Amino acid sequence: MASEQPSVLLVEDEPAQREVLAYNLEADGFAVTKAENGEEALMLVDEAAPDIILLDWMLPNVSGIEVCRQLKTRASTRGVPIIMISARSEEVDRVRGLETGADDYVVKPYSVIELMARVRAQLRRTRPSTVGERLEYEDILLDSETHRVTRDGNQLKLGPTEFRLLSTFMEKPGRVWSREQLLDRVWGRDIYVDTRTVDVHIGRLRKALCQHGGQDPLRTVRGAGYALG
Ligand code: CA
Repeated sequence: MASEQPSVLLVEDEPAQREVLAYNLEADGFAVTKAENGEEALMLVDEAAPDIILLDWMLPNVSGIEVCRQLKTRASTRGVPIIMISARSEEVDRVRGLETGADDYVVKPYSVIELMARVRAQLRRTRPSTVGERLEYEDILLDSETHRVTRDGNQLKLGPTEFRLLSTFMEKPGRVWSREQLLDRVWGRDIYVDTRTVDVHIGRLRKALCQHGGQDPLRTVRGAGYALG
């Protein structure tokens, strides 16, 4: 189930604040990666893009604003929501004025409950399957909370990997995913899996989706990968 756990990159240079926030995020089911400064944050994002980034404004050397600006100009990370955390509301006004592309802003001291609500609001938009949303594509319904999938009213039997694959496809119907992107999203980067494994599980998913009849909704895109619809 690890891959449905939303991943968060927490960028905060003050150890006490970093630990408190990491503790709360982990308690709430997040896989947390921590960075102490902007350089480390940029390096970690290059290794594996998280589902969301919490970014402190005041960081040594490379500021939070600069990190945000860089991430929002790169095509590979532009879609990752960033919540900026700042010490003063005037900073938030400035960050808005600078148009760094941050998706939301929180002022210290913030309530953890409020911050979590904002994190979830961002994920509902970008990674709905990680926050228990129901996804729908034509006659297929996927409930990410109960892990039930139905097609035309019939419940489908799916293995955990096939479920994660389908969640990924259903979050963005029509998007073409390369095998490498599916490996990152569904298996995670820590595990070594051959790209051919993706084909095997795509085959199983196709079979599962048609177990009560219906057309195969998955599309093989030659030289590119797979898409739903
Ligand atoms: Ca700071």
